[in-house]
Amino acid sequence: MATRPHIGIIGAGLSGLRCADILIQNGARVTILEARDRIGGRVHQDEVGGHLVDLGPNWIHGTGQNPIMALAEATQTVTHDPEGANVAISRQGHVVDDALAMKASEFMWTTIEEAFEYSNQHAESIPADRSLFDFFQERVQRTDFTPAEKELCLDACKLWGAYVGDPIERQSLRFFCLEECIDGNNYFVASTYKHILEHVAKAAQTQAGIFFNHPVVRIDAPPRPKDQPQAQHQVTVTTASETNHHFDEVVVTCPLGWLKRNTDAFHPQLPERLLQAVNNISYGRLEKVYVTFPRAFWQTTTTETRPPKPRTNPVFAQFLDPIYAPHPPHIQWNQECLFLAALPDPCAQPTLLFYTYGPCATHIVDSLAGLDLESSAYKTRLIDFLAPFYARLPGYSASAPDCTPTALLATRWQADPYAGNGSYCNFQVGLTHADRDIEVLRSGAGVGAERGVWFAGEHTAPFVALGTTTGAYWSGERAATQICCARGLGSLGVGAARDDSLPSAGVKGI
Ligand SMILES: Cc1cc2nc3c(=O)[nH]c(=O)nc-3n(C[C@H](O)[C@H](O)[C@H](O)COP(=O)(O)OP(=O)(O)OC[C@H]3O[C@@H](n4cnc5c(N)ncnc54)[C@H](O)[C@@H]3O)c2cc1C
Repeated sequence: MATRPHIGIIGAGLSGLRCADILIQNGARVTILEARDRIGGRVHQDEVGGHLVDLGPNWIHGTGQNPIMALAEATQTVTHDPEGANVAISRQGHVVDDALAMKASEFMWTTIEEAFEYSNQHAESIPADRSLFDFFQERVQRTDFTPAEKELCLDACKLWGAYVGDPIERQSLRFFCLEECIDGNNYFVASTYKHILEHVAKAAQTQAGIFFNHPVVRIDAPPRPKDQPQAQHQVTVTTASETNHHFDEVVVTCPLGWLKRNTDAFHPQLPERLLQAVNNISYGRLEKVYVTFPRAFWQTTTTETRPPKPRTNPVFAQFLDPIYAPHPPHIQWNQECLFLAALPDPCAQPTLLFYTYGPCATHIVDSLAGLDLESSAYKTRLIDFLAPFYARLPGYSASAPDCTPTALLATRWQADPYAGNGSYCNFQVGLTHADRDIEVLRSGAGVGAERGVWFAGEHTAPFVALGTTTGAYWSGERAATQICCARGLGSLGVGAARDDSLPSAGVKGI
């Protein structure tokens, strides 16, 4: 056993950076190989209309014991619980009456709670092909709503697709429980994840070697010799430029979508059960489109008081199954939109953030392929997509300069191989053992102990945090703990018994 083992981490996203932090604190030497020219992975910001915005995550899911919430507080990150008025736009393009919109919203949230409970209690017996949408349909039939109200409720429910990154007709009801998050509110990270990322990266940036533009293409990890535990064993990692790096242990944080396309990078081949798990768990398609205007034209003020005060301005808009927006007939075109003018100062901005998902998101990403972000073709294509929606908002006038976009930006995670050509893991119909699959992804089917290759990343997180920044952070801690355990680093000692899903006390930094 080397006294100071050299650990290679593939990927400088949240999971890799947190893993590096814990390993460094416990005395390991750490080198990170990162495919991009920056840290953060899916946590990334860019400017739109002079404001910094998040291209990946911009929510913190749940407050109970959530380390990302604690990091937000420690870094004076502005977070915001966007409670407030919603605007629902009907299929025909009209603003839905407030009382009716509230009825649909209450139905959706109540049924979501019921679906979590049902999935938790009946996971074993729910048929694998039963979807979350089936559940909504069944529940709406039990109400005494009119047919028009039922249709509106189902249209509103479909927008849950923006949470899972795919249409809810594809969301497994059986494993919907795996979408349940940490208790407490969801907070929008108004000043972006920038300072949270910088904080998590501090140890890695000062005490680890980080090689940027080093995409890993091959990992050679022969089995450790069983009869000679003290014998030298190394994992060789090869980058696209054919450079070899040798490590005592390697942590792979590449996204699930990358693993799906690159299982042949591992030599010898990964165990069959691990390959099945990689193949089984699905990968979502959430994208964002930001559009900025000279002024937040949808904000109104009342002149009835002196000085004029803002009215209750909308926070969210939901565009339900729009027949007024041209689109391919077989693709759901509903959209959820957040009004960033409702953020607290100094983060408020005259910007709409559209969440688009599934085949619609794929269609938009494809339509932007090869276009320069500054080109007029890029802007025109995005305006063609967005205008039918923002033109339905209160205060819109086609001739008003305030209603003409000044900046536009769309994400293209599906075209990004280092993001796994998608957004984050989700659980689609057809899955029979998704919970076991996740446990296998976490444990790496034993290849850590056997060959020195460990796995981290949001798809290996504890169940309550799968697909989130919190989950990525915890998964990095867990992989570091596994290595500390195996190498006798920290105060855990070799082979201490632990629950593999959770980070462990006894290792410095946790
Ligand atoms: C559009 C979108 C919205 C989201 N919204 C939220 C949200 O609101 N709240 C939330 O909690 N989560 C959200 N998420 C999920 C969250 O971003 C992820 O769970 C988290 O950032 C994943 O971190 P990670 O370290 O597991 O992976 P990553 O951040 O993807 O890090 C992996 C790293 O590995 C690198 N890499 C990949 N392949 C290679 C290779 N072959 N060689 C070397 N390096 C490689 C990548 O470049 C990357 O830096 C969102 C994600 C997306 C895409």
